[in-house]
Amino acid sequence: MRYDFDCLIVGGGLVGASLATALRDLPIRIGVVEAVPVTADQQPSYDDRGLGIAPASQRILQAIGCWEALAKEATPIREIHVSDRGHFGTTRISAKKLGIDQLGHIVIGRALGKVLQNAIMTAENTEFICPGTIVSIENRPDHIHVVIQEGEKTRTASIRLLIAADGGQSRVREMLGVKTETKDYGQTAIVTNVTPELDHNHTAFERFTTSGPLALLPSTEGRCVVVWTAETDCAQKIMQLEESDFLNRLGDRFGHRLGNFIKMGTRRSYPMRLIRAKNLVGLRFAIIGNAAHTIHPNAAQGLNLGLRDVACMAELIADAVRRGKDLASPDLLNTYSDTRQRDHQQVIRFSDGLTKLFYNDNPLLIAMRGLAMLGVDLIPPAKRALVRRAMGLAGNCSRLIRGLPL
Ligand SMILES: Cc1cc2nc3c(=O)[nH]c(=O)nc-3n(C[C@H](O)[C@H](O)[C@H](O)COP(=O)(O)OP(=O)(O)OC[C@H]3O[C@@H](n4cnc5c(N)ncnc54)[C@H](O)[C@@H]3O)c2cc1C
Repeated sequence: MRYDFDCLIVGGGLVGASLATALRDLPIRIGVVEAVPVTADQQPSYDDRGLGIAPASQRILQAIGCWEALAKEATPIREIHVSDRGHFGTTRISAKKLGIDQLGHIVIGRALGKVLQNAIMTAENTEFICPGTIVSIENRPDHIHVVIQEGEKTRTASIRLLIAADGGQSRVREMLGVKTETKDYGQTAIVTNVTPELDHNHTAFERFTTSGPLALLPSTEGRCVVVWTAETDCAQKIMQLEESDFLNRLGDRFGHRLGNFIKMGTRRSYPMRLIRAKNLVGLRFAIIGNAAHTIHPNAAQGLNLGLRDVACMAELIADAVRRGKDLASPDLLNTYSDTRQRDHQQVIRFSDGLTKLFYNDNPLLIAMRGLAMLGVDLIPPAKRALVRRAMGLAGNCSRLIRGLPL
């Protein structure tokens, strides 16, 4: 059987493009279908959101050859400060006290997108079909037949392995008949960047307030990325505030640890939903990234989880290529599903649990979260375990996370 693509990735966002980049040196033919043109300002995956990149993700980006180009735009996080507005209990996590250089980095989505896009557009084994979408999918035992809309043209392709990486509202997931579990948090996250009077000192602040979590993350040129989550009605009003009123309201929510906020960038809002695919694999396909799991950004884990999907899938594909095996064998796909389900489960439980624990006025829960934060602050092993998990270094790690080649 002649295949047009050994692996077709639908969605050239941060996760899909990372997988294509990881596979660029293998002797296989890869296609990436991306709906939004490269030049478009509205590329949904490559916008101005500040992304907390855990050390495991840094290693993956390093191993696939993207970190070097990104490093100058990545701001190290040396301290994390978690507090609960108006209540007792704070947790401080310091890289220095843990004997490490940093706890992670903040990278702007647009900067990471640029590096990844450049990587896939210059890879010899990759065809970047953009703007393109999938019109129909037919899975057969020995291949998948797809119809691709590429600009004005329609083309057909036969492929070995189809990867759905087209985000939370995945059309491919729907076409493949994969059901989802969803939950609308009724919250909206507002993202912008601000310049505070005082130096952020590489500290990431996460402040839980009764109307939702507020994060201030250290960024380049003395700026901080703001991720302010509130109930959707309230968030819509905040979005419409004049700049000076927005900055005053932010100061009121955050406090004055960084002095006043003097300047801000454009604001963008994102509705908060949990979307989880009920299956990660099926006949000749697998689902990765937000198409598999869209989570609340309160724990800064969505992309990190997606990059661990990439590390796992890239390793399985590389092993199959080396052994001359089918890239979409049930064995390979089931190993991907079994390996990733556990990590997904744990991260989703943690992030969803945070929304319940912190987005609540119940006095018992307020006391519990104060105690939980104090506990984490005072018990070094608890702090270390939490940090290791947040860094993405707990459990079984793929080769790319261990800094090994594919
Ligand atoms: C406010 C906010 C803050 C966040 N902060 C963090 C953080 O600090 N750390 C972290 O790890 N994560 C964070 N995340 C999550 C992170 O942004 C996502 O997990 C990540 O962007 C998912 O990437 P993806 O490529 O899977 O999906 P997406 O970013 O949704 O990309 C999907 C891609 O598929 C394309 N596409 C869609 N439909 C089609 C189609 N039919 N055909 C072809 N292409 C299609 C889209 O154009 C897009 O390029 C945050 C998210 C938000 C909203």
